[in-house]
Amino acid sequence: MVVKESMVPDEERHVTNLWHIDEEHFNTGEPSSMETIYTIGNGYFATRGTFADNYFRARPGTLLSGVFDDIPIGKEELANVPDWLPIKLYINGERFHITKGTILAYQRTLDMSCGVLTQTVRWESPSGIRLKIQNEHFASLAQEHVGAIRYRVTVEEKPPDMHELNLLLRATFNMAVGNDDLMHWEPVEQWHEDELVWLLTQTRHSTIQLLQTMDFMSQTRGFNKEIFDSDTSPSIELRGKLAVGETVTAEKIVVMYTTLDTHDLVLAAFAHHRRLMIGDERAHQFGMQRSLYDILLEQNKQAWRAYWNVSDIIIEGDDKAQLAVRYSLYQLRISVNPRDSHSSIAAKGLTGFGYHGHVFHDTEIYMLPYFSYVHPEIARTLLLYRYHLLPAAREKAAGNGCEGAQYPWESTRDGKEATPDLLVHPETKELIPIPNGRIELHITANIAYAVYQYWQVTGDDEFMRDFGAEIMLSTAMFWASRAEWDPEDHHFGYNQVIGSDEWHEYVNNNAYTNYMAKWNIQAALDILRWIRHNAPDKAQELLHALHVTAPLLEHWQDVAEQMYIPQDKETGLFEQFDGFCQLEPLDLDTYKGRQESYQAILGLEPTRHYRIIKQADVLAFITLFHQQFDLKTKQVNWDYYYPITDHDYGSSLTPALHVLLACQLGLLDSAYEMFLKGALVDLEDRRGNTSEGIHEACCGAVWQAIVLGFAGLHVTDDGYTTHPSWPEGWTHLAFTFLHKGKPIFVDLRKGQETLEE
Ligand code: BGC
Ligand code: BGC
Repeated sequence: MVVKESMVPDEERHVTNLWHIDEEHFNTGEPSSMETIYTIGNGYFATRGTFADNYFRARPGTLLSGVFDDIPIGKEELANVPDWLPIKLYINGERFHITKGTILAYQRTLDMSCGVLTQTVRWESPSGIRLKIQNEHFASLAQEHVGAIRYRVTVEEKPPDMHELNLLLRATFNMAVGNDDLMHWEPVEQWHEDELVWLLTQTRHSTIQLLQTMDFMSQTRGFNKEIFDSDTSPSIELRGKLAVGETVTAEKIVVMYTTLDTHDLVLAAFAHHRRLMIGDERAHQFGMQRSLYDILLEQNKQAWRAYWNVSDIIIEGDDKAQLAVRYSLYQLRISVNPRDSHSSIAAKGLTGFGYHGHVFHDTEIYMLPYFSYVHPEIARTLLLYRYHLLPAAREKAAGNGCEGAQYPWESTRDGKEATPDLLVHPETKELIPIPNGRIELHITANIAYAVYQYWQVTGDDEFMRDFGAEIMLSTAMFWASRAEWDPEDHHFGYNQVIGSDEWHEYVNNNAYTNYMAKWNIQAALDILRWIRHNAPDKAQELLHALHVTAPLLEHWQDVAEQMYIPQDKETGLFEQFDGFCQLEPLDLDTYKGRQESYQAILGLEPTRHYRIIKQADVLAFITLFHQQFDLKTKQVNWDYYYPITDHDYGSSLTPALHVLLACQLGLLDSAYEMFLKGALVDLEDRRGNTSEGIHEACCGAVWQAIVLGFAGLHVTDDGYTTHPSWPEGWTHLAFTFLHKGKPIFVDLRKGQETLEE
């Protein structure tokens, strides 16, 4: 393998800053997309980029993977836990507040190479004291339960008539946070022992307990510590005096455990936090000058280095793209908990309250390819999440009078359908019925697709035998039993469904759904042949357990063979659903310069009558199965569907998905335009909803756009090929993927042969 110790030498990072997301001015606007963008995390938890020294309009948010609590509509949501960031600073009784006094300089930087967020403010207090306040924090990637803050205050100037400067730093947990209007936690117990302050809280409905422990210390001489117990905001105070030119450095270390991790919270958190402190004491005994924060920071940096070693993508000749791609890869890592196969990645990761932390097809179709190709062990964990939820999927199928397993459109920890039945219209406040949980069926085939793709890329036969095959067979069984026979036209299909384009509901024979279902059944039959050959005992066991009989298998075969795929035989054009091509065309020119989706402009009901779509539907399955279609078919469908898709304000998922086809069709300008729409969706808050959370699916689509699109990577059983398309300016494109467990470094240079090993 060509990847060296680190693909990202420190000097390069420093010179180019293509690892930094910087902000030079504090934006007091609301709602804040920057809080979302500056989220730090490790997949076990993530914390929005609010400040330790709180800003009153901030929406502090720390979400722990899988920690849900009930909500009135929509079942449950990830419950924002008591804020661990606050550190309040007082100087001679004046409180540092970002909107009071004068900000002399401001800088905020997220260093993606190590997941550290730093904020530096030079501030003049109302009475004229000048301070430099540096605040740095991270969620440890090396120790997922640990968060660490370093807070540093330097006195730069004081008014001449002021003799003493008394400084107070108060570190707290703050329970006064919710998910927008909803509060999820109630205090159970609070106390302190030695240097550690503890807060035990519990979600109101799901009764998950969370124990947070904190210590707050400073090695600066002359600072005294005092602990204040409180049910809602226990704190540790440090008090001392500073002269002009002096600095105080304080460190706040927090450990978090929930009853999802262990039943003995006290033991786990206490032991963990103690271990950290003992390690710190030992370092001092050995005369090392490093503080606990330094030690944790170094471990965290090492863990991130290991991540970037395999994950980084290098793009030369386009700094904007380089930065945005790293941001996507950063996001994908902080959203996934590789150690928990009972949670998956939410549509907004752990970065905001949008979609309540629910899991959609976003994970399997948009994000999973990245993990399958680059971090197969994480992909496996994500697929195991779906495996564990097969019993719930079987219940859902049975509840709809079907056999096999039907996955929920929106999923949480127990795998029951979590899609709300109703939503309140943001402007008109009308109640809008949401049928997606009942009729957006394609998710079930999307999961089978991800299982199959993972197996092809990784060659993980054991996974397929022990887990994947059961998903493949159970989902195929669902599709075969749900299929409806059309006695007039003599074919099978699915009526009254929603396809990937969600603007048309209750449609018949959605090409995407029918195509995916047919494939799912055929792939399950292939897997059955494979497993019968390779693990006959396991095959018998599965067939028996799932009640799969020979006549049933024949029926599956019939359904697959006679599945209706609406396509014009002459031109190759697929019809998105029965009657789609007869819908009224929309005069798109009239809407140039719009700032909203076509659906928002036209209204929900009228949109259904127009030939305009929210996101790729036909082009989605042509992309997923691009090797099955010739260029002519790709072109004719592209020409038809691309112009009628709302790439700007429809769904954010598919612009970057279009890159693969655009590259194959030689439409480089469109490819690049679509790529940027995905890559910058949040960094530029292009849809105005980044405050709700990062569009995680876009992050995965961006990886696919580069590797499968621009690089044209094609993996075969015994090797791989690339077929690069070069956007303007790009001179060098390099990335790593694993081919059946072996890391391959692909290094493409414009105008040169592929260098590979
Ligand atoms: C999209 C879905 C997606 C969901 C969550 C919706 O707006 O249409 O395809 O799964 O958002 O990201
Ligand atoms: C999305 C659906 C989702 C629904 C409820 C809609 O905006 O497009 O995919 O199920 O919200 O969460």
